[in-house]
Amino acid sequence: MTVGVWFRRDLRLAENPAWAAAAATGATVVACFVVDPHLWSSSGAHRRDQLVAHLQALDTELQEQGGRLRVVHGDPVRALPPVEVDAWYWNDDYSPYATRRDAAIEESLTTAVHRFDGCVVQPPGTVLTKAGTPPKVFTPYYRRWQQLPMPTVADTAPTSLSSERGEGVPDAQRPPLMDGGERAAQSRLTVFLERVDDYPETRDRPDLDETSRLSADLKFGTIAPWDVARRVGTETEGRAAFVRQLCWRDFYANIIADNPHTVTRALRPEYDRIEWIDDDEAFDAWRNGQTGYPIVDAGMRQLLGEGWMHNRVRMITASFLVKDLLIDWRRGERHFRDLLVDGDLAQNVGNWQWVAGTGADAAPYFRIFNPVSQGRKFDPAGDYVRRWVPELAGVDAAIIHAPWEAAPLDLAAGGVTLGVDYPDPIIDHGFARERTLAAYEAARSGG
Ligand code: FAD
Repeated sequence: MTVGVWFRRDLRLAENPAWAAAAATGATVVACFVVDPHLWSSSGAHRRDQLVAHLQALDTELQEQGGRLRVVHGDPVRALPPVEVDAWYWNDDYSPYATRRDAAIEESLTTAVHRFDGCVVQPPGTVLTKAGTPPKVFTPYYRRWQQLPMPTVADTAPTSLSSERGEGVPDAQRPPLMDGGERAAQSRLTVFLERVDDYPETRDRPDLDETSRLSADLKFGTIAPWDVARRVGTETEGRAAFVRQLCWRDFYANIIADNPHTVTRALRPEYDRIEWIDDDEAFDAWRNGQTGYPIVDAGMRQLLGEGWMHNRVRMITASFLVKDLLIDWRRGERHFRDLLVDGDLAQNVGNWQWVAGTGADAAPYFRIFNPVSQGRKFDPAGDYVRRWVPELAGVDAAIIHAPWEAAPLDLAAGGVTLGVDYPDPIIDHGFARERTLAAYEAARSGG
């Protein structure tokens, strides 16, 4: 007998419910990955390169056990059935696309399908209020989430593995941002555990950059989220604060599974009445890190350069697009999702809607981040800005977050002439704030 495991967002052998169940059958296991052109082409180069690194590492691990990763290319509905197995095993993915795809595949397969949950700690539909409905607000969700038992997986190695490699792992364009595979993910967690107790103090500081950097591992499943939660634990304030963030990830997976329309529409429908400004020039300045607001430009250039941005800076840059430029959050969401190495529909849409004030448990619409005070507070010496905006590298910390307020001589001492070496701000924040409040208020009161 032969059984197939279709790896999707669970590129690991440890703590993998579908893999463990397939191995426990005692059958020969075919480890399969489908390069789906739909997902491949909707991922930017950073994420594709990271995926390739993870696939190579998975293939290497399988080779150590005498097998290979069988890679097939094409629409899974057509690519999967020709792989001859007696049953399929996979872990569910809850995105609207994956849900539709899996339903179509189950219909087209003549073999049995065994489905598991391997991508979140608590799958959608399991964290419920007393009334049996999924909480729409984070705090009650979190409270209930903490009370539920975490998954346990009895890791089992297959007795026999298929060694067919199919079409092979695609080539990468560049080295990945992070080493690929589950061993690298476990090492990242081990390193982070040494500083997790400082998490509440350091987590908002892009200059220190001391968060776990596990989001891309969680996105591709090179580590199980419950494995992270268990290893971190909640014994200290720092550990509990970190595990709470992991719960946000489940929360957003839950929101999108229940509300697939929120990929394109506001969860709070009144905000679909906002009159956004269609300003391509301003959008390009934002996208290219040329807004004249140093913390925004640093973040956007880091995103372009390496497909990564610190969470605090994601909030600042997203807020700048939506609430300073009054550009539709959906344009920003698409840009982030394209470039982010951890780009994930549920997480990205959930967070963009949070910033825009249109989503579940969102920031109130009148909370508008001031990019100057945010920069001064969270990058106090300007080191993060200097790293990504080299033209400001010689500028003093006191003026680096608002160079237009500085005397030209002070800027010249740092080698900068505003409007020549670095742009003037593309918009006045005070003006933008009033304009946005008016637009949101109009939407709330019926347009
Ligand atoms: P840590 O601080 O070490 O947190 C640990 C883990 O908790 C993260 O890996 C992540 O899985 C989870 N987590 C932390 N913060 C959040 C959050 N706000 N929402 C949901 N989960 C969270 N995260 C993605 O994984 N993919 C995205 O596409 C994505 N897009 C975002 C867009 C915007 C506008 C914003 C404001 C945030 C976005 N995030 C996204 C959430 C967050 O920025 C990243 O998860 C985090 O920066 C990853 O770094 P880390 O692993 O070092 O985080």
